[in-house]
Amino acid sequence: MHVRDKLYINGQWVASSSTSVIEVIDAGTEEVFATIPEGTADDVEVAVAAAAAAFPAWAATPVKDRAALLAKVAEQLGARNGEIAEVISHEVGMPLLFSSLIQAGLPTGTFADAAARAPEFAWDEQVGSSLVTREPVGVVGAITPWNYPLHQIANKVAPALAAGCTVVLKPSEVAPINAFLLAEIIDAVGFPKGVFNLVTGVGPVVGEAIASHPLVDMVSFTGSTRAGKRVMQLAAEGVKKVSLELGGKSANIILEDADLAAAIPDGVFKCYLNSGQTCSALTRMVVPRSKLAEIEALAVAAAENFAPIDPFGEAPEGRLGIGPLISATQRERVRGYIARGIEEGATLLTGGAEAPEGLERGYFVRPTVFSNVTNDMTIAQEEIFGPVLSIIPYDTEDEAIAIANDSAYGLAGGVWAGDQAHGIEVARKMRTGQVEVNGGAFNPIAPFGGYKQSGIGRELGAFGFEEFLEVKSLQL
Ligand code: NAD
Repeated sequence: MHVRDKLYINGQWVASSSTSVIEVIDAGTEEVFATIPEGTADDVEVAVAAAAAAFPAWAATPVKDRAALLAKVAEQLGARNGEIAEVISHEVGMPLLFSSLIQAGLPTGTFADAAARAPEFAWDEQVGSSLVTREPVGVVGAITPWNYPLHQIANKVAPALAAGCTVVLKPSEVAPINAFLLAEIIDAVGFPKGVFNLVTGVGPVVGEAIASHPLVDMVSFTGSTRAGKRVMQLAAEGVKKVSLELGGKSANIILEDADLAAAIPDGVFKCYLNSGQTCSALTRMVVPRSKLAEIEALAVAAAENFAPIDPFGEAPEGRLGIGPLISATQRERVRGYIARGIEEGATLLTGGAEAPEGLERGYFVRPTVFSNVTNDMTIAQEEIFGPVLSIIPYDTEDEAIAIANDSAYGLAGGVWAGDQAHGIEVARKMRTGQVEVNGGAFNPIAPFGGYKQSGIGRELGAFGFEEFLEVKSLQL
């Protein structure tokens, strides 16, 4: 049991102004795994004041010194990979091996990238008679979700600190312990006080206090589209810079000449990663009607190869493990969507709304595949955030592209084509922030972010770094 009873503000572990706590539930055991302070608007007030006071000196600190501290954070994250992975497997339910590689591994790389990138960055450029220079945007309020909790935090905190901004972080109250580990590391490596601050609590209280605080210059939010809209409304009062990384309903277009034996299992995997709780999950598989039967058979085989397992257990030989969902709420939501898919007339090929057999605890949902889904069905339009794949048949390539683009979202996507150049041509027609062609791997320095209601701005790499900069022109 992790008991965290302090917030990290102005370089010190301090008590919240309230004595209320939030219980953190273990996704695999359904038991209380940790408690954290339920922070308040008063706590935000103190944290933002500290961040604002620390900003001028931090912004003026030589970039190589800022980078050196960030490199130390990366080193420490690497050294504590096992502990971080374990904590996140308890919080989120992702099987430990994946947690180690993704949940703990990605943030390490992101801090290292920010440390390397900032000193190499071209802060000044000459534009005609002007000197155009970049400066840190100021105090950043970072609000993050639970699905890849430390990755989402690192995507904001690492580039913001490298840029010279100071930060007040509100992590997800559902998976917050990883944020305490990061705060411990930041404290240990010796950042100046007030540069990084951690306030835990619930969104409508701590999140809204951050989004509306007059001394917060930028709000960087990752989470649901619903909460993102609220954050943007609040930030609008102060005309703050806002970046939003929101939901998705990403399409994976399988073209006639695609290598189905490779494409379909890969597509199912990209839908089910982290039990489907991935904003960029490829949840709509858009397939040629002429190949529907063959694709259905491959998708069922791939889905049934996933074995629901305890996050700390082993998958049976030759099969892939899939963990529980994060919470009872999430499980009920996903089961509701499965029932809705059946009601609306989609064909249930495998899975279903009933609990998988043989697992007494953990918020498990059966890996599920629907076929004959039409794009107007709820399961094709709404983000389910569970292991539920919708196969949508098409007759022409133009129709496939139209289906892919017929979404309020535009975060990710995929194209599988016999010919790479043709795949790229189709990818260019998709109104979405990332497209993987023929299973192209996730690239942690490629810009990540959404079109339409999937968000505003980009994270990761050079584009993610520049989000935390203002541009100033000196006319000479
Ligand atoms: P959520 O919106 O419920 O919560 C996200 C964060 O916002 C949490 O810290 C929460 O406390 C806070 N929050 C909630 N209401 C708020 C309010 N009124 N004001 C300010 N803050 C508030 O999302 P979640 O359930 O934690 O995460 C799942 C969602 O996040 C999914 O929709 C998923 O697609 C999205 N997501 C997007 C990306 C991306 O990069 N685009 C990445 C991961 C997750």
